[in-house]
Amino acid sequence: MAASVPSQPSVEATSPLDYDAIIIGAGMSGMYQLHRLRELGMRVRVFEAGTGVGGTWYWNRYPGARFDSESYSYGYSFSKELLEEWDWTEHFAPQPETLRYLNFVADKFDLRRDIQFRSRVASAHYDEAARSWAVELDDGRRHRARFLITAIGVLSSPTMPRIAGVETFEGKSFHTARWPHEAVSFEGKRVAVIGTGATGVQTIQEVAKTAGRLTVFQRTPNWCAPLHNRKIDAQTMAKIRAEYSDIFRRCQETFACFLHTPDPRGTFEVTPEEREAFFEKLYAEPGFGIWQGNFRDILTDRKANAAISDFVARKIRQRVKDQAVAEKLIPRDHGFGTRRVPLETKYYEVYNQPNVTLVDIKATPIERITPTGIKTSDAEYAFDIIIYATGFDAITGAFDQIDLRGVNGLRLKERWRNGPQTYLGVMVEGFPNMMMLMGPHTALGNIPRSIEYNVEWVTGLLRHARSAGITRVEATPEGVASWTDHVKSLGVGLLSNEINSWMTGINTNVEGKQTRIIARYSGSAPAYRARCDEAAANGYRELALA
Ligand code: NAP
Repeated sequence: MAASVPSQPSVEATSPLDYDAIIIGAGMSGMYQLHRLRELGMRVRVFEAGTGVGGTWYWNRYPGARFDSESYSYGYSFSKELLEEWDWTEHFAPQPETLRYLNFVADKFDLRRDIQFRSRVASAHYDEAARSWAVELDDGRRHRARFLITAIGVLSSPTMPRIAGVETFEGKSFHTARWPHEAVSFEGKRVAVIGTGATGVQTIQEVAKTAGRLTVFQRTPNWCAPLHNRKIDAQTMAKIRAEYSDIFRRCQETFACFLHTPDPRGTFEVTPEEREAFFEKLYAEPGFGIWQGNFRDILTDRKANAAISDFVARKIRQRVKDQAVAEKLIPRDHGFGTRRVPLETKYYEVYNQPNVTLVDIKATPIERITPTGIKTSDAEYAFDIIIYATGFDAITGAFDQIDLRGVNGLRLKERWRNGPQTYLGVMVEGFPNMMMLMGPHTALGNIPRSIEYNVEWVTGLLRHARSAGITRVEATPEGVASWTDHVKSLGVGLLSNEINSWMTGINTNVEGKQTRIIARYSGSAPAYRARCDEAAANGYRELALA
């Protein structure tokens, strides 16, 4: 695909570059990208809004935050030494441990000297004459680099509910993704949690342990499954360490990079007894097996999906004593696994505690937040603390927060007005020299595995550009159209794409995010990598290089 690009600029000398590359964000992807670009000998600067590294694991300090994928499948795999030196203490590590891990990585690879903290990027404008990006921080400082790499996360732009009176509450209130660094005590307190996604579920089961009174405001119940977490002793860690290469090889081979992979059988290819026994086995096992390792058709065949949904509904009815409450906790508007499955530890049993109340706000909507609490259509509740577990403006939200402009001042938000359009989820036509890590249309799944691949691919592209003296890299219209069509076609027939969730770009709290979009790549991770590998192997001929 040929595309015409402007000839080599002549004004470069008048607008010197501060860096070869600017990376936005010091989470798992920004940290690893920094490490790799340094190895290429590039001058790199990372701008990070927080005061430390870790991204998701820096911001999400809410009580109960922890991995839902196995710790040893989640950490970086690129350094044997790192794998040797770090011990995980739980199969599903809690957030403080993960943050310690990421700080350990930052120390080990001496990353902090190229990271500027407390530095939120306000705008990034492409300058065609200088073939570079002009980046402005929210304190007005400006920096210029040849390449701009966004490492801003998929779930990093938290959203507060659009409920009247939020600002009037006189007690303490927190969004889970903006949790304070100091401990919050719930001892004897009247606590409200709004939101019952993966975050809300983790928060609720923790807060219920100490709160004087906990009231959960649920709009849509989700299908949750047991996490079955355990400690890792020294002997088990030694075994894990010996198996690391096998663990990461398995992650490379599975559909979504988890240790779990779909069972090759169809739900109705076995007898009812075998089916029930298989569901029981999965329900008793740790992690995402019941979601990612279930019969191959549960996320595409309605009857198969109904079978597993019915199984989990029965479990909820068994675990919750008050059957009226159990019925409220069973989802009616979507089947099991069509939204991200929250993993839980005694979540359903929380509703058997005398100090916990579930309020179904579809039946009795919240009318307003008051100075003393929450008023629904049929009651007024007083609280000391309100916790907003109300989620994120996902996938494109973090891009919308930055004034990103490409060729001729075109805004990215405008470019994506009708949904994201990308080349391999990494590049956008009209935004030369900008690469996205975990951008829209990339494979999500076990995210660090996808991050490592994404970073390696971008590193390969920049290595190629440097060795060939290329100073301008842009996606072509054909490349973008073909990838975007491909991503859309992969989404056809997936039940999850017929459901409102952050994965389909829905956020009721954000203007303009009420229409479903195909925001993520829903093919297999191996297929995604094969396609990207092929693009590199053919010399990036689908890109316009100059
Ligand atoms: P979420 O799944 O989007 O859930 C947000 C919750 O808030 C939903 O229950 C939503 O109800 C509710 N809500 C939003 N606005 C509301 C309003 N105005 N009034 C009442 N309720 C409102 O967000 P999340 O729980 O933060 O999770 C997002 C993703 O982060 C997860 O799916 C997962 O991928 C990731 N995560 C990962 C981990 C882990 O790995 N361990 C842990 C937590 C989160 P509706 O459903 O009705 O919109």
